Amino acid sequence: MTTPDDTIDADAFVPLLDDEAAPAGDGAALHWKVLIVDDDEDVHQATELALRGVAIEGRALQFLHAHSAAEALALMRAQADIAVALLDVVMEAEDAGLRLVRQLREDLGRRALRVVLRTGQPGYAPEIETIRSYDINDYKTKSELTRVRLYTSLTAAIRSYRQIVTLEQTRDGLEIIVSASHQLGRQRGLQRFAEGLVTQLSALLGVQPEGLVCAHAPVDPYDTPRIIAAAGRFRELIHRPLEDLASAPVRETLARCLDARHHQLEPALCLYFSAPSGRGIAAYVDAAARVEPLDQRLLEVFSASMSVAFENVLLYGQLVDYAYQDQLLRMPNRNRFVELITERQRAPEGVALALLDIDDFAAINDTLGHVVGDQVLRAAAQRLQQVLGPEVVLARIGGDTFGLLGPEAAVNPQLVETAFAEVVEAQGERMRISATMGLVRLQADSPPGAELIKDAHLALKQAKQIRRGSSCYFSERMGVDARERMRLLRSLRGAFDERRLYVAYQPQVDLGTGRVVGAEALIRWRRDDGSFVPPDRFIPLAERSGLIVAIGEFVLRTACHALHRLHRSGYPGLRMSVNVSKVQFTDPDFLPSVVRALQDARVEPQALELEITESVASEDLNFILRVLAELRRMGVALAIDDFGTGYSSLSVLRQLGAQRLKIDRAFVNELGAVDAERGDAGQGSIARMVVDLGRSLGLETVGEGVETLAQRELLTAMGCHIGQGFLFAHPMPADELADWLARNR
Ligand code: C2E
Ligand code: MG
Ligand code: MG
Repeated sequence: MTTPDDTIDADAFVPLLDDEAAPAGDGAALHWKVLIVDDDEDVHQATELALRGVAIEGRALQFLHAHSAAEALALMRAQADIAVALLDVVMEAEDAGLRLVRQLREDLGRRALRVVLRTGQPGYAPEIETIRSYDINDYKTKSELTRVRLYTSLTAAIRSYRQIVTLEQTRDGLEIIVSASHQLGRQRGLQRFAEGLVTQLSALLGVQPEGLVCAHAPVDPYDTPRIIAAAGRFRELIHRPLEDLASAPVRETLARCLDARHHQLEPALCLYFSAPSGRGIAAYVDAAARVEPLDQRLLEVFSASMSVAFENVLLYGQLVDYAYQDQLLRMPNRNRFVELITERQRAPEGVALALLDIDDFAAINDTLGHVVGDQVLRAAAQRLQQVLGPEVVLARIGGDTFGLLGPEAAVNPQLVETAFAEVVEAQGERMRISATMGLVRLQADSPPGAELIKDAHLALKQAKQIRRGSSCYFSERMGVDARERMRLLRSLRGAFDERRLYVAYQPQVDLGTGRVVGAEALIRWRRDDGSFVPPDRFIPLAERSGLIVAIGEFVLRTACHALHRLHRSGYPGLRMSVNVSKVQFTDPDFLPSVVRALQDARVEPQALELEITESVASEDLNFILRVLAELRRMGVALAIDDFGTGYSSLSVLRQLGAQRLKIDRAFVNELGAVDAERGDAGQGSIARMVVDLGRSLGLETVGEGVETLAQRELLTAMGCHIGQGFLFAHPMPADELADWLARNR
């Protein structure tokens, strides 16, 4: 056996002592662990002596010693980072060394550890097959253990050890990255994403999630960055502005990273994740160790794939934002409000829901423009939130409708009124706004959110009917009424589709001569059980649902055909009056439908009169006047129905260009009735005023609802031209009208 001692001096000049190359300050942490396994103590000493002071790839060697295979195995188990084992083949058994290698590879799964086999007998060599299958790096006889030979052999082994470790780390890192981007790309919400980022990043770097901070660049350029996730000692800073971070180096590194939109690797690690939209996140890692070049490359890959996940999270956030946020006022929209109501229903005591509608908002929009309209909405929202306090949720659930949800003490009409006590300013315009409110109190058995909004809506409608600016609480009765109206509308539709609606005609008589001058067409709905539903009940429903357009056209066409037959059967001078509601009149197909009805029935336009109420003038007046002008040009006459019950001004009345005013039957009813207090017959001052007004405007007047002879005589004396009422005839079907006309020639 050769002792290495005699070779040491010969090799002494070899410049192996590259201590200077070792990076300063790394201390004992950076060295290669070399395990010497041999049952001969001399070999241990000789090897260590031969390699004393040697450094490989900038690191010193640290020797571990085992004198049997069992001892070696225990050491390997305990220390995962042994780089090379110098292993004696023959120890307690002929092949003890080879068996150890097998256990090392197969049982312990150590693939990186390099093995240099050593044997005392020059003639003994393991088979090539063994070397290959146990991944043995080198095979040496103990006589070859000179300083130079050992150095060469160890250098090769350590280099390949390092490469294998690097590859393993890369693989592990990539696995983390793949699974991280898989997990984080599906995160819903920036905060969750950031939390995941912190965890995954620490896993990748092999550090504890300690001292990690994630800051988000502000969306609004005037805002400051915020901390959206943090771990360890920075934990309580979540949601706070970055400025609040006390540690200046951490704060500045994050700020610099967000500013430069790039990773900062010095002095501490700070990664930047960006989305194409320009929004970015910076993640600071409080890792003491410097970042290895390998880690740097992995971090690049990590941040590239996280940026993709980040973009997904932002896109998802945007979708959520559009689905649940009002984009103008930046508050919950109807969808979100419904959810919030449902959440509040878990503890419904003392909670109220209100719908608040800004009065005459459409007029503000129309006259002052949408920019002013938007500002008014913003001002209203701001006032409301100020007055109602943070406990009340404010949502925008329609154009000019806000939803309020919160304690009854706050969500109540008195408090809300104070929000609008002062004028608001928009684009230099100072205006007073008011709002109408419908309220519902939440109860344990309240219906779900969407239904509750409907209830509040009913209350709001009720309030609008009372007076703009008032408010109304929902009651069970309202719900019942609404459901009944729905049922009625449904059966009206059925009746119309099945042609169970028909038209009745009520004659109109010239009060001077007693001759019949025309008839008014009135819709009738007779139910299967023979009962009638009065038009006053179902016409408003038909108007609100739009069904009136079809029903109105049906009446118009039927009346025109009936008139044609009357003309042909000896009453050529008769006129037909047809009621037209506001909704119908403003329908774009209205004029063409009149032309069609007249042509199809072969009736002269002069024989048709349309009755409209003053309320038509409350719509877009210019449009109404254009339609009326066209009707006039055709020769169709116009009567103002129920005159005296509306509020239209004299100038509007003149502009409408009617031929007749119909005195509402309520005013005719007053005529001739005995006044209980004065004991004489009433003078019917309103009926007289209408007749006088008609005369001064050059219009004929028609008295509706004439039931008594006295009424007829008073009207005649006033100078009213035409009478219509039960005194002459009830409304009747077309064929009965023909008989009636024959009898009353
Ligand atoms: P209106 O246009 O003012 O019709 C006159 C109403 O007075 C009719 O009621 C008629 O039956 C009733 N009436 C006539 N003479 C007397 C009388 O001497 N005493 C009393 N108490 N009532 C009398 P009706 O048929 O119930 O119609 C009510 C309202 O429904 C109509 O008032 C009209 O506004 C609307 N309406 C009826 N048919 C139609 C239609 O085809 N289209 C539209 N848009 N509205 C209609
Ligand atoms: Mg009428
Ligand atoms: Mg009337």
